[in-house]
Amino acid sequence: MVLRLLRLVNRLYPWVALGAYMLAFAVAFVCVFTFPLGALALVVMGVLSLAVVAVARDALQAVQRAMQRGWLRGGRCPACRMGPVKAEAAGWRCRGCAQAFGADGAEAPAVEPPVAIDSEMAAA
Ligand SMILES: [Zn+2]
Repeated sequence: MVLRLLRLVNRLYPWVALGAYMLAFAVAFVCVFTFPLGALALVVMGVLSLAVVAVARDALQAVQRAMQRGWLRGGRCPACRMGPVKAEAAGWRCRGCAQAFGADGAEAPAVEPPVAIDSEMAAA
């Protein structure tokens, strides 16, 4: 349950951060005409908060990777919550949903299966 929530938070985090900065931009844009000092303060706060946002993202992703490693060692897949999970040289792969995980527990991008080329179509 905690891992599921954490995966959702990590998936939405970039969009929430983008939304917050877009909202700050809209407020700052209005402030330029009404209260210029507020716009300046928003710009300074936006730049300074960037480091906090990035560190928080890294921390959340590190916690998720650590929890996923525990799940994978236990033979359960964090993506589909079933399995079985097969250990590979590069990490783990779920036999149920084919999701690959790196040795650090991070989800590897999905790999498309190779498409067979029809020899008659290639000749035509
Ligand atoms: Zn799976």
